[in-house]
Amino acid sequence: MPQPPPGVQSDYPLSRLTTVRTGGPAEYFARAGTIAALERLVAWAAAEELEVGVVGSGSNLLVADQGVRGLVVKLDKDLSKIEFDGPRIHCGGGARLPAVSAKAAQAGLAGIEFGVNIPGTVGGAVRMNANAYGGELARVLEWVDIVSPGGSDRRVPDQLGFAYRRSDLGPHEIVARASFALTPAPPEEVKATLADMRARRKAAQPSGIKTFGSTFKNPDHPRAGGKTAGQLLDAAGCRGLRIGGASFSAKHANFVENHGEATTADVIALMAEGRRQVRERFGVELEAEVQTLGPIGAEQLESAFGPHAGTAEGSVPA
Ligand SMILES: Cc1cc2nc3c(=O)[nH]c(=O)nc-3n(C[C@H](O)[C@H](O)[C@H](O)COP(=O)(O)OP(=O)(O)OC[C@H]3O[C@@H](n4cnc5c(N)ncnc54)[C@H](O)[C@@H]3O)c2cc1C
Repeated sequence: MPQPPPGVQSDYPLSRLTTVRTGGPAEYFARAGTIAALERLVAWAAAEELEVGVVGSGSNLLVADQGVRGLVVKLDKDLSKIEFDGPRIHCGGGARLPAVSAKAAQAGLAGIEFGVNIPGTVGGAVRMNANAYGGELARVLEWVDIVSPGGSDRRVPDQLGFAYRRSDLGPHEIVARASFALTPAPPEEVKATLADMRARRKAAQPSGIKTFGSTFKNPDHPRAGGKTAGQLLDAAGCRGLRIGGASFSAKHANFVENHGEATTADVIALMAEGRRQVRERFGVELEAEVQTLGPIGAEQLESAFGPHAGTAEGSVPA
């Protein structure tokens, strides 16, 4: 294989780029600071027939223990900037959502307050259709610039297939930039909303643990009786359940916690056990919210991730 472009590293440990801190290395890893650099990397990968994956803040990501074949990209520099244009914010796909929310509040712009507690990037939030406290990404998102092996294009929310915690972006489509159209409001009011959201979150969720947040989506099945995934796991006796170095958090049963030495295999076994107990107790099939990067066996995907496992909705193949 010809030399990779400058800046591409081999065997790069990905666990340090995820919040749960498990999983193996990327065969190739690179940071892209501009659209041109990103396009060059993606073109190189296409020419070498390498799969392309992207990692944001890794706050919703489970990396296979054996690592990821192909190229994994992380956006930085220009592609993580946050810039104002009147009531609009233009940012890189690698910009951190809590920073976007805080800067918007300082500038007296409302509409993206819900991002303050979502520890991900703008690109990850678009792929996941991230939401909190009734806020809605699609309501304020104007457009995204996508880079992929098939070329680059600009899309509006109607073209992104947003549904509960998903979009129909393909696994190789990278959100490089995004624009949000916000509403002018007194900065003190927007800041007060952020403070209230932070306080509510602190009371409800564990902090300072290695986790990817909610493991399973909240089911809308009638047998769930309106219960959240966390309430079902709790009622099925999974709160605190531990396999290897991973457990369901004692504070929030839908959060998996890595106690320090967990492997991705531990996390997957725990997820499968949680799904099994909820199925047996309530007849409800939980579906994973967390995304995967790298090869996870078909059997584990089905038992731990649920209905959409192995599809573009449930995992990123590599
Ligand atoms: C403590 C905690 C609390 C959380 N609270 C919430 C919450 O309230 N609401 C909520 O919705 N989520 C929540 N999450 C989940 C997570 O923060 C969101 O899903 C977030 O949007 C993921 O962004 P990320 O940059 O971390 O993506 P990653 O975890 O890095 O990746 C997630 C997926 O997005 C893809 N991706 C990443 N960057 C890009 C890009 N630039 N272009 C295309 N695809 C990309 C990845 O390939 C992967 O498929 C929480 C997580 C934690 C750890």
